[in-house]
Amino acid sequence: MHVLILGGTTEARRLAELLHGTPGLELTSSLAGRVASPRLPPGEVRVGGFGGAAGLAEWLREHAVDALIDATHPFAGTMSFHAAQAAATAHVPLLALRRPGWVPVEGDDWHEAGSLEDAAGLLPGLGRRIFLTTGRMGLAAFADLTDLWFLVRSVDAPESPYPPRMEVLLDRGPFTLDGERELLRRHRVDVVVTKDSGGAATAPKLAAAREAGMPVVVVRRPAAPEGVPIVPDPERAVRWLGECLGLRIFLLPD
Ligand code: NAP
Repeated sequence: MHVLILGGTTEARRLAELLHGTPGLELTSSLAGRVASPRLPPGEVRVGGFGGAAGLAEWLREHAVDALIDATHPFAGTMSFHAAQAAATAHVPLLALRRPGWVPVEGDDWHEAGSLEDAAGLLPGLGRRIFLTTGRMGLAAFADLTDLWFLVRSVDAPESPYPPRMEVLLDRGPFTLDGERELLRRHRVDVVVTKDSGGAATAPKLAAAREAGMPVVVVRRPAAPEGVPIVPDPERAVRWLGECLGLRIFLLPD
């Protein structure tokens, strides 16, 4: 049995860890290649695009893939649609492993945005010193905000265009509440911008902003393909695989 995991997330790595070494299972994880030195999952890893949905369908056929898990980031919208199309074409069962989005709690001052461009439009009315945690891609949306100062946190250095008044902090999660509190204080941040990525690793910034009574601009998730079963965590993906491939070895206790 051959399983292909479309990865690039903590959950994809965790799933590979859970499945690695299962007798009778060949496992391949796929990364887009955006990060210079990614944290690699155990097992076989391939890097780079497939050449669209048709290329992925071809890959599934050529490599006799029995099940496909789309464990990409909730904002990797294109890849999720390609996965749905390719799985249908190649008649391969597909599961989406997608961590749930964040939910505001009492004390949060969240401002929802439909896109990075919408988020940029909201900022001049909210503050002047912005902690931008949306990653190194898409900074062009903020490039015209010449009056605002940005602290940009990303795994690799951003490429232009980006805002003219900007400091870059190269770092990757998980982050702690103490660390995020200190970061907001030291840089005199007055607004946080984030994608609704979900998950625990990058959530402490939300708690730190809440404590400080600071507004947070939350970019909503892009649309995902309809009709694809979704599970919220790697353990349930393992269970789905067990049922799908008929391998009892995968069935974990509840
Ligand atoms: P995207 O816009 O949905 O995909 C763009 C293209 O990148 C796809 O058409 C595909 O190229 C290639 N691609 C994406 N994920 C791939 C994978 N796992 N394996 C092989 N090729 C892949 O994706 P993105 O937003 O650029 O994200 C790229 C990767 O970074 C994803 O793996 C995602 O999990 C990870 N990531 C994204 C974010 C985010 O905020 N977007 C955050 C953290 C991690 P082809 O059409 O040539 O196949």
